[in-house]
Amino acid sequence: MTSEIEFLSDHIPEPGEVYEITPGIQWIRMPLPFLLNHINLWMIEEEDGWVLIDTGINDERTKEIWRDIFGRVLNGKPLSRLVCTHAHPDHIGLGGWIHEEYGAELVITREEWAFGRMISMGATKDEKTYFDYFRRIGCDEENLNDLGSHILTADELYHDVPRRYERMRDGSTITIAGKQWEVIVGLGHAVEHACLYCQELDVLIAGDQVLPKITPTIMVHAPEPEADPLKDFLDSNEKLRRLPDTVTVLPSHNRPFTGLHARLDQYIAHHDERLDVVLNACDKPLSGMEVAGVLFTRELDFHGKFFASGEAMAHIRHLEYQGKLSRSIDTDGVERYLRA
Ligand SMILES: [Zn+2]
Repeated sequence: MTSEIEFLSDHIPEPGEVYEITPGIQWIRMPLPFLLNHINLWMIEEEDGWVLIDTGINDERTKEIWRDIFGRVLNGKPLSRLVCTHAHPDHIGLGGWIHEEYGAELVITREEWAFGRMISMGATKDEKTYFDYFRRIGCDEENLNDLGSHILTADELYHDVPRRYERMRDGSTITIAGKQWEVIVGLGHAVEHACLYCQELDVLIAGDQVLPKITPTIMVHAPEPEADPLKDFLDSNEKLRRLPDTVTVLPSHNRPFTGLHARLDQYIAHHDERLDVVLNACDKPLSGMEVAGVLFTRELDFHGKFFASGEAMAHIRHLEYQGKLSRSIDTDGVERYLRA
């Protein structure tokens, strides 16, 4: 029996506010220019410096807020380390700027570092790979540009990613303010996402791996079209089961909470339900884009359609590898999926 999800605080910090959510851990909330309009970031003071966890996106507004915060709260100490949970742009978009302006050394897993470096250097400006994939999942010629607009310009969301880093790996520990934090790597949402768990504080910095209200996006992407990220996600979440249910979870979106185990259960139920919807819809052969239309009935903008198509493919691949869907390829090159 696991307890329900309970939020720690009704207070949500305003932009620029530094709010101590649990002893020694400062909560900062930065705006994002998306439907998901904010990200939570954390700062911890050490004897001889500060550690920042994640950065916010690369835009002027976020830089301005950081200048204001760093000007007020650092107490003459350096910003010594920047720990990034993963390399999505809301988490590391200002990593290069913070490294250059404030000297913070990046701490990150190796795959996330490589992924962030690649995207920030323009690796997704690759129309052919993306358009081939979008055609394959059933996108019309006239919608290719719109569907690709998010990913083809993704590099603009990054200032830069630092050229050197200190590696975190699954099971390793890092010391912050004299306390040990264990690195627990999760897959599925990102390539090598790090959660940080401090047993002494009973706190989990969860990044995007565990969020209280929304599910992290689980997507198949063009460079790895045969991936099964939903399996990766559900499997790696099981590693978090050994943490006590008393643990305070600091998520990157929404509010800090307790009830980790209940949330992990909800993820399984949520995806089971979505898998059922996909399976039932595929009583007739459907493309990935058509399945996205079944899963997401509300009107979506281009960004929304990009995420919806990736989510649809993640559920399709998972069912396919369980033998529940079979794949056929039309003469037009579009893959369609039918209940096996
Ligand atoms: Zn993310």
